[in-house]
Amino acid sequence: MAEVHTVAGKHFLSDKVEHFTESVIREMTRQAMLYGAVNLAQGFPDFPAPAEIKQAAQKAIAADVNQYAITWGAKSLRNAIARQMGLWQGIEIDPEKEITVCCGSTEAMISTLLALCNAGDEIVIFEPFYENYGPDSVLSGARPRFVKLHAPKEDGGEWTFDEKELRRAFGNRTKAIILNTPNNPTGKVFTRAELELIRDLCLEFDVLAITDEIYEHILYDGTKHISMVSLDGMRDRTVTINGMSKTYSVTGWRVGWAVAPEKITGAIRKVHDFLTVGAPAPLQEAGAAALTMPEDYYSRLAEGYRVRRDRLIPALTSAGFKCFRPRGAYYVMTDISAFGFKDDVEFAKYLVREVGIATVPGSSFYRDPHDGAQQVRFAFCKKPETLDEATRRLGKLRG
Ligand code: GLN
Repeated sequence: MAEVHTVAGKHFLSDKVEHFTESVIREMTRQAMLYGAVNLAQGFPDFPAPAEIKQAAQKAIAADVNQYAITWGAKSLRNAIARQMGLWQGIEIDPEKEITVCCGSTEAMISTLLALCNAGDEIVIFEPFYENYGPDSVLSGARPRFVKLHAPKEDGGEWTFDEKELRRAFGNRTKAIILNTPNNPTGKVFTRAELELIRDLCLEFDVLAITDEIYEHILYDGTKHISMVSLDGMRDRTVTINGMSKTYSVTGWRVGWAVAPEKITGAIRKVHDFLTVGAPAPLQEAGAAALTMPEDYYSRLAEGYRVRRDRLIPALTSAGFKCFRPRGAYYVMTDISAFGFKDDVEFAKYLVREVGIATVPGSSFYRDPHDGAQQVRFAFCKKPETLDEATRRLGKLRG
């Protein structure tokens, strides 16, 4: 059937969907499957989730926790989230009024934007950005204002932003800034000084902060994660988004949450309820159990990823990539100019088909594809064997 979107001249598709494409990250996973490539594209672990957490989920199903949880989240999980935010960030949260459990942090983000934005509102987003924020803005009617994170010039340096450029992005239409720290795709961990600068702008322009903190526990080189909500003046104007996916290696479970002041939570809960009713009930119980994992679980998680990072980077460097060393999260952005390809998409296609490694083309993290045309992103949340196999295949590239 041709042209299904028009019948007798009537246009059936929403204008909104014309403004964005399918996710390139998810597409690269399908390409990896198609070509039998090692998947260093989409950020999900290829190793087992912790046994205790899986048992908690099995136990919940066996105990018949199989019907809807409370729409904004099972009490046990909300209590666990509030307790952990107290422990980790020193923030007191009311689990009855300030938490919405969603189907992954992905849904927490879009529900938040739908709850907050009117057509014409502006959202400040650092670029390169996790690709979902683009379509999220379109769907919520907001206009993104991008502010560049500049790649480090020297080896081992940090991604930085220009204070003046950030200030210029704020105005009287600005509703919120989306902040992702530790950052995907750059691995940047925002410092206290940077967060304070952003905070000052939020206060001056009366703007909210929506923070995606899904990589909170994946930190290297002694960096510390600081939640925006813990900064003076931000308690009432921050939505903190997090979830189980990355911390507990269960990306397919789809359990995430948004923590926000009561009024904002009320609006998020309404959107969330009508979008999805609720996140999977037995997996929320497992989430409550996961959040009581002993302290050393988190240090072992970070150390495991540090070892993987330090295994992949030298392999990429000797294959000809220039690597931007991440301080957090589990991706490494690379510069591919040494290979002399027209652009990142052509290079990523070559890599998945001929070399057998799937990556994410850099352009998917920028509004203007040209800005990412000489970058690709590798995910290293993979088994040592997977990274070794990728290293072997990189040899082909060298040849
Ligand atoms: N955050 C992951 C990435 O950037 C993927 C998340 C997803 O595909 N939903 O690869």
